[in-house]
Amino acid sequence: MYLGLSGGIGSGKSTVAKILSDLGAVVIDADAIAKEVLEPGQVGYESVVHAFGGSVLDTSGNIDRKQLAAAVFQDTSQLAQLEAIVHPAVSARVTQIRESLPANSIVVYDTPLLVEKQLQDQFDKVIIVIADVDVRRSRLVSRGLDTSDIAARIANQVTDEQRMAVADFVVTNNGSLQELREHVTQVWHQLTA
Ligand code: ADP
Repeated sequence: MYLGLSGGIGSGKSTVAKILSDLGAVVIDADAIAKEVLEPGQVGYESVVHAFGGSVLDTSGNIDRKQLAAAVFQDTSQLAQLEAIVHPAVSARVTQIRESLPANSIVVYDTPLLVEKQLQDQFDKVIIVIADVDVRRSRLVSRGLDTSDIAARIANQVTDEQRMAVADFVVTNNGSLQELREHVTQVWHQLTA
């Protein structure tokens, strides 16, 4: 079974991914894969250096992701060029990981951009984590993000309503971690029944 997991920043998506992993799912972290494919020796590295030049490298020869983000920020053609490198590399890596797993695995693809990228049809089921914006904000403040950064990130993402429109399961995470664990465990039982 292949599950998509998403949620707005601060909703608790990563926490849900961890709970699902504890319950026996194999979690594939889209952000981690996107980083991995840009490491030296990986498939995206040469392409990025070729397309964007040595100025996106740090002193050790690694791709400086902040520098790269700055280079494509507000330049849609550069962003498209970067995405044309990263997306196929990520897809290939995900396919490779999935093919290496036993056929009966429950695989969770954890991605913040599931709805933005319209990925919902790839999955057997989609799990969406939602939480009130105030709750998300205070979680992110305690994680050390500053309030203007949080507002910009939330404004940049789709809304919970848009996410819920593609959901098979909606996990509301306004309460305690214990409540979250119970809710996710219920979803797990439905998936594995
Ligand atoms: P996301 O991946 O959606 O950005 P995280 O899972 O990283 O969100 O959660 C954001 C922060 O809030 C983390 O520090 C996490 O430990 C905390 N958190 C998540 N859910 C709860 C909860 N129900 N109660 C208390 N803290 C929570």
